This record gives sequence, structure tokens and C-alpha cells, in this order.
Amino acid sequence: MPVPGVGDYDDQNVFAKILRGEIPCRRIYEDLHALAFHDIAPQAPLHVLVIPKGRYVSFADFAAKGGEDEIAGFVRAVGHVASQLGLDAPGYRLLSNMGRDGGQEVPHFHVHLFGGAMLGRMVSLPSA
Ligand code: 5GP
Repeated sequence: MPVPGVGDYDDQNVFAKILRGEIPCRRIYEDLHALAFHDIAPQAPLHVLVIPKGRYVSFADFAAKGGEDEIAGFVRAVGHVASQLGLDAPGYRLLSNMGRDGGQEVPHFHVHLFGGAMLGRMVSLPSA
């Protein structure tokens, strides 16, 4: 059983299909390097996904293989989206799940942007 975020890029993953316009999304922002859209199953009042346009399976893959322009463009896009949504003053949380222990489900690198409420402290482990 393959671990999402590890191994070769799968062009049939759901975010690849969103990037190709094969399935719809509630788009918030798009530029040369990134696409931002609402998560289909929001975990906070505001839950946005920001993805790079390149074929990267995870944060680790993007950090290792992303071009300087892609990495800078992606980080700036995340910041821009947060500002555009009015989150700079109240604050927000960024999160990227990586691989098995990170709980990654979709094998295309993405950052979750949560906001719109006090989010509490960090993460909790699932109960045994
Ligand atoms: P992961 O666990 O990989 O970090 O998170 C994947 C996220 O993608 C989940 O929060 C899930 O709700 C979201 N997601 C999965 N499929 C779709 C989809 O088709 N459209 C949108 N907008 N979000 C999706």
C-alpha cells in the first residue's frame, strides 16, 4: 500500500485534477506558481488549501526539488492569500501534513490555511 507523499508523483491525484480543471473547486487565488481554494471538508470557519502548480508529492519533495522561483512564489502566494482573506490581524495557522505519520491523504504538496476562530494550541494525538 503506497504512502501518500512518498514515492513518484501520481497524475491522477485529486489536486492534479483540480489543477487541470477536470474537477471543480471554489477558487480563491491563482498565479504562476500557486492555486488556492476552499477545502471541501472545512475543519475551521475558514479552511483554505494552497498548492504549488508543480508536480511535488509532499513538503519534503518540494523542499528538495522545487526551484527557487517556485518556492519563493509559493510562499508569497500563501502570504498573499492570508492577507487577502483579512487574516493578518486576527491571525491564522498553516499546516502541511507529510507522509504516513503526518496523516497526508492527497499526494500533491499542499498547505492548509486555517482561520476565522481561536484555533487552540497545536495538535492532539488520536486516542488509542
Ligand atoms: P491532507 O490530509 O492530505 O493534508 O489533506 C487533504 C485535504 O484535501 C483534506 O482536508 C480534504 O478535505 C481535502 N480534499 C480532498 N478532496 C478534495 C476535493 O476534491 N476538493 C477540495 N476542495 N478539497 C479536497
